[in-house]
Amino acid sequence: MMKEFVIATNNKKKLTEIQRILAPLGIVPVTAAEKGIDLGDVVEDGATFAENAYIKAKAAFDKCGLPVIADDSGLCVDALDGRPGIYSARYGGHDSPYSTKIQMLLDELKDVPAPERTAHFSCAVCCILKSGEVIAVEGRCEGEIATAPSGDGGFGYDPVFTVGGRSFATLPSDEKDRLSHRGNALRQLCRELENRKEEL
Ligand code: IMP
Repeated sequence: MMKEFVIATNNKKKLTEIQRILAPLGIVPVTAAEKGIDLGDVVEDGATFAENAYIKAKAAFDKCGLPVIADDSGLCVDALDGRPGIYSARYGGHDSPYSTKIQMLLDELKDVPAPERTAHFSCAVCCILKSGEVIAVEGRCEGEIATAPSGDGGFGYDPVFTVGGRSFATLPSDEKDRLSHRGNALRQLCRELENRKEEL
């Protein structure tokens, strides 16, 4: 299965991960820019990751009429009742750097002891095929929030999200992809696409 999909995101780091995960699975991820499409700003006013992934995928599909894949993801911290969740990109202000967002998160959790610092990343992926058929999948990765950042790989909250004591930002990219919410969601999507080979 070698099939082109437009990846509906303006987030370069996310795009890099999506391309890295999908390419070996027989999907050819192309950027909107490569197709001459301006994704513009989409109002993500859904109440869930899945709704926001659909909103992004649909907006891109309506613009280009080509098969598209969109991801909506975020960090859900148990001690904060699931925050920042769907507001992860906007936590501490849309334009605040991740160093600020991370510090805010660590401040909010300063009195929370290790066993209660559990969290997970969620990733909803929405794919719309040429026919208009919508495929929705979701991936999760369970972990903890560290007391200080470590590592300089990855993006976003990676320096404070740990699995087995190591932050995502310290992992080689293939290891992050194997464990990550995004890796899990995109591998599920590939299985769904495999079942629809004839329609692609
Ligand atoms: P979205 O672009 O609206 O889906 O926002 C996703 C936000 O969730 C990102 O900007 C990050 O703040 C956070 N996020 C999602 N996935 C990851 C990840 O793999 N590592 C670190 N942060 C992530």
